[in-house]
Amino acid sequence: MTRQKYIFVAGGVMSGVGKGIATASIGKILQSKGFKVTAIKIDPYINVDAGTMNPIEHGEIFVTDDGTECDQDLGNYERFLDETLTSDNYLTTGRVYQAVINKERKLGYHGRCVEVVPDIPNEVITRIKKVAKKTKADFILIEIGGTVGEYQNSLFLEAARMLKISEPNNVLFILISYLPIPENIGEMKTKPTQTSVRLLNEAGIQPDIILGRSSLPLDALRKKKLSISCSVVKENIISAPDVKSIYEIPINFEKEHLGNQILKKFGLKAKTHQFKNWQNLVKTIKSNKKIVKIGIVGKYFESGQFILLDSYLSVIEAIKHAAWYFKFEPDIYWLSSANYEGKNSIKCLKELKNYDGIIVPGGFGPRGINGKINAIKFCRENKIPYLGLCLGMQLAVIEFARNVCHLKNANSTEFVTKKIQYPIIDIMPEQKKLLRIKAYGGTMRLGAYSCQISPNTISAKAYNLLEVSERHRHRYELNNNFREILEQHNMVIAGINPKSNLVEIIELKNHPFFVGVQFHPEYKSRPLNPHPLFKEFIKSAIRKHHHN
Ligand code: GLN
Repeated sequence: MTRQKYIFVAGGVMSGVGKGIATASIGKILQSKGFKVTAIKIDPYINVDAGTMNPIEHGEIFVTDDGTECDQDLGNYERFLDETLTSDNYLTTGRVYQAVINKERKLGYHGRCVEVVPDIPNEVITRIKKVAKKTKADFILIEIGGTVGEYQNSLFLEAARMLKISEPNNVLFILISYLPIPENIGEMKTKPTQTSVRLLNEAGIQPDIILGRSSLPLDALRKKKLSISCSVVKENIISAPDVKSIYEIPINFEKEHLGNQILKKFGLKAKTHQFKNWQNLVKTIKSNKKIVKIGIVGKYFESGQFILLDSYLSVIEAIKHAAWYFKFEPDIYWLSSANYEGKNSIKCLKELKNYDGIIVPGGFGPRGINGKINAIKFCRENKIPYLGLCLGMQLAVIEFARNVCHLKNANSTEFVTKKIQYPIIDIMPEQKKLLRIKAYGGTMRLGAYSCQISPNTISAKAYNLLEVSERHRHRYELNNNFREILEQHNMVIAGINPKSNLVEIIELKNHPFFVGVQFHPEYKSRPLNPHPLFKEFIKSAIRKHHHN
C-alpha cells in the first residue's frame, strides 16, 4: 500500500488570493518536518502551455530546466521548496485533452467510446501518479487553478474526488478562501466562504482544512461560524492574513499549527523540525532598513489604469534575494521604456542617475525598444550598474554596435522586416523554419543549456565557476559574424555555449558592472541561495549607493 499522500488545494470566492504561495508554504512546512514534498499546478485553460500567452494577461511565463513554459506558481514552488520541477509538475486542460485524444487515435482505449467523464479525470490522476512515482515524494501537493464553482476546473475537482474514493486515507482537501471586510460594514464576512464550501460539497468534496485569507487575522467568532457552517473543526480553520513578505506565510501557518494538523489527519508525526534558516531569513527581511534603489525598464506592466508587477515576478524575487543577502531592502521602480524615447526623454534619462542599478528584462517585439536602448546607453556612459536579461543583453549589444563600433544601423532581425545592414542580433537558423510554418508553441530555445565562462571576467568572479547551466527562452542570438568587431572595441564575450558557440554573456570593461546574459538567471534564484549574478549586480549597486 502506498504511503504517499495527496493534498489538493482549491480556491474559493475569487482568484488572486495567493493559492500558489499558500500551496508552496504548505509544502515548506511539511518539508521542515522532514518530509519530501513536490507540487503540481493545474491550470484550467486550453493552452497547452503558457508560452504563447501575453505576460500582461498571464503574468510571468516561468521556464523549468527541461524547457517547459509554465505558470509562475511553478516558480513559487521552486523558490519555496528549493526543488527543481519538470514538465510533469504542470497540467493544463489543453495538455490533458491532447494526451487523451492522442491516445484515442492510437487505439489506446481499445475501441471503446472515450468520454469526458471518466477519461479526462482518469488522465489527470494518471499524471498525478506519474509525478508521485517519479519523485517518490511523501506529499504531492496539487493546486487546482481558478475558483470552485467555475465550469472550467470542475473536471479537475472530479479527479480529486475520484482519487479520494480510491485512496480515502491518502487524500486531503484544503480550501483557500477569501473573507472580505467591506468598508461600509467594517466586519469580516464569512458568507462567501460558506457558499464556496457548498459549491465544493456539490462537487462531492468536503474540505478538511480551510485557509481564510483576509486583510486581518480571523478572530475566534469567525472561526466558530465557519466551523459550524462548513463542518470543519475549529482547529482546521486557519487564519491567513495579509503579510509584508510572502516568505512570512509558512511561519504564520506554523503559528496556527497547520503542519501538525495536516500530519494528524494522515496519522503521521513530524520527523524533524528544521525551520531555523527560513525563520532567520524572515527576521532579516523584517529588520532591513538600508535601501538599494533598482529600476526596471520594461513594458509589460501597464494594464489600463493599473500597474501589474506579475510579468517580471522572478526578476523581482531574484533582486530581493540578492539584496537580503547583503541585509538591504530593495526599492524597485517600474520605469516604462516609453519614457526614454521622444519628447521628455532627455529629462527622464538624466533621472536614471538616481538609481543604484538598472535592469532591462526579457521581452518580445519592437515596441519600446528605442527607449530601452537609450536607457542602456545612459547606464553605459554614466557607469550605472546594468544587468541585461535576454532581450536586455541583445539591446546592450545593439547599443554598443551602434554607438561604440559605429555600425549605425545595427539592429535585431526581430524588429525590422526589411533587410538590414548590420543584423547584429539574428534569428537562429532552426528558428527561421519554425516561424515560417507558424510553429510558435513550445519551440523557442528553451530550458537549461550549458555556458562556458571566460576566466578573469565579472561573471567568473560572480559564479566562481567556469561552467554553469542556465535557463533560456529566445529565438534570436548574437550574430557571431560581428563578434570580432565587438571584441575589438572592448566588449568582453564572457560566456559561450560550448556546443553551439552561441554567445551567452557579454560584459564591458571599465565599468563597475555591465553584464548582459542571453539566459534568464532570475529563474534559478532562491531566497536562501540568491543567484550569483544578481548578487554581484546588487553588490555593485550598493557600492554606487554609498558613493552617491
Ligand atoms: N525577443 C528576444 C528573442 O526571442 C528575447 C527573448 C527574451 O527576452 N526572453 O530572442
